[in-house]
Amino acid sequence: MILKIDRLAIELPMPEDPDPDAAAAVQELLGGRFGEMSTVMNYTFQSFNFRGRKDAKPYYDLISNISAEEYGHVELVAATINGMLTGASDPSQVNGEVGVTLPGAKENRLSHHFIVSGQGALVANSLGQPWQGDYVFNSGDLALDLLHDFFLESGARAQKIRVYEMTDHPIARQMLGYLLVRGGVHQVAYAKALEELTGATVTKLLNMPNVPNSKFPETRQWEERGLHRILYRFSPDDYREIDKIWKGEHPQDGEEVEVVDGPPEGAPRPDTPAQPGIGVPGYELGELSDIAQRMMQRA
Ligand code: MN
Ligand code: MN
Repeated sequence: MILKIDRLAIELPMPEDPDPDAAAAVQELLGGRFGEMSTVMNYTFQSFNFRGRKDAKPYYDLISNISAEEYGHVELVAATINGMLTGASDPSQVNGEVGVTLPGAKENRLSHHFIVSGQGALVANSLGQPWQGDYVFNSGDLALDLLHDFFLESGARAQKIRVYEMTDHPIARQMLGYLLVRGGVHQVAYAKALEELTGATVTKLLNMPNVPNSKFPETRQWEERGLHRILYRFSPDDYREIDKIWKGEHPQDGEEVEVVDGPPEGAPRPDTPAQPGIGVPGYELGELSDIAQRMMQRA
């Protein structure tokens, strides 16, 4: 089962200047092969299909526990895309007018944001191609699955860095700074799991991190709080064996890594107002709020 908390992992800046083309690039980090949909679904199904759990509890706990954090990452990238698309259609127009609100939208590189969705995140990559179930690798061989997960986190990091280079949008940069740090934790966690399992020093396979987090100013606030050394235990009572793997030194700074009980404190979601250009057939602006007010008064 899963317990939901209606907060984002971190505070995101409020939407100000839209950038729909940069939002399209960020889509890769949500629904691309190496995006957050892939991390959440890989670890979720690897945990669902895990056989012989009792004999391999720390590994099961690690994979299943990280899948919960990844859900929050999907949520954070989706909120980023929503923020970057806010204001991308002409806000001076109201519903009911025709031929005025989306004149520029066809120039944007991902028109699905405007035609198929209400200026929201798609379960798709930067080209608008849908996320696919065969991005999930689950062989049933623990070492192979963990090696894949290490590879997935490493590829995800490379793509985050490229999207970082493509946009300096403040919402994207805030999200990227945090996820570079958190993805780094998972990369090291799977490397540690493989080292426990096989004795191989997996981190030596890749020059990792070839571009350290310290190069990105947006990672600093998280590293200063030690988030690169923390694995959150995303459960009130379960997944207690993750500390059998998440222990010892962090390969980057040599400091002790640590398990923290419970999810991060998080922050409220930024408000993303209704977008006038998308209400077809839709309600007048403010009409939904009146309906909701009446419902709450009746209750
Ligand atoms: Mn992630
Ligand atoms: Mn991850």
